[in-house]
Amino acid sequence: STLIEAAEVSAGYDNKRERTRLIALRDISLKVTQGEFLAIVGPSGCGKTTLINLIAGFVKPISGVVKVRGVEVDGPGADRAMVFQDYALLPWRTVERNVEFAIENRRGHVPKPERRRRIASALSLVGLAGFEKSYPHELSGGMRQRVGIARALVGEPEILLMDEPFGAVDAMTREAMQAELERIIAETRQTVVFITHSIDEAITLGDRIVVVSNRPGTIREIIDVDLPRP
Ligand code: ADP
Ligand code: ADP
Repeated sequence: STLIEAAEVSAGYDNKRERTRLIALRDISLKVTQGEFLAIVGPSGCGKTTLINLIAGFVKPISGVVKVRGVEVDGPGADRAMVFQDYALLPWRTVERNVEFAIENRRGHVPKPERRRRIASALSLVGLAGFEKSYPHELSGGMRQRVGIARALVGEPEILLMDEPFGAVDAMTREAMQAELERIIAETRQTVVFITHSIDEAITLGDRIVVVSNRPGTIREIIDVDLPRP
């Protein structure tokens, strides 16, 4: 069944001082099926981050509508969690407190024992059991990114939105983390929207690939490529 749907969505950014508007996405239509791993690939600046931010509810469309489970997206929600390229960890907080951050600032209080259970489970899922008391600067880039993934998983969101999560890790770590992510998703059965500029990564991870092209001017286009699972 369709979980995410964007219908003829345009999005852009206003430059208030110069009174201009940059169109980042024009008339994009897209459906994401429940349980699907969708890879979005395209060159830098083509609008990938804008697209995932529309789904996250961080960016509002100029026209068109984005729906999750048939309901129009109107701001961030607990059913969607984002993993960022630069990890966005709090340096003064330990690993477990960084992960906890995702559930403590949420409406609907999660009781302490349940919090502890979820944090332990998320950290164990990303292979970081034993690093609860470490600080981000004590970890490698790959481990920091796994903290970022654990922080997204801990809220048990239905949809995982990942913006080039392995962009800042070296090639060997990236391969290991791709395998790890596949294992985690097989276990949690989440719906994933994954941004990458690497067609290799899109093919490795995606059930389906959406190519966003960067035409001259502002017209962007989405091409669906159906790929059989290996
Ligand atoms: P990608 O993720 O594919 O690199 P983005 O969605 O980040 O693409 O950017 C699409 C276009 O929108 C680019 O031209 C970029 O410069 C512009 N853009 C992105 N974010 C902002 C912003 N916050 N303010 C102004 N322009 C932006
Ligand atoms: P709390 O544990 O009370 O929830 P935080 O975990 O946010 O607070 O902060 C822990 C410690 O880090 C506090 O001593 C706080 O003053 C300090 N701190 C808060 N914000 C920053 C910041 N932007 N840079 C450095 N240290 C900060």
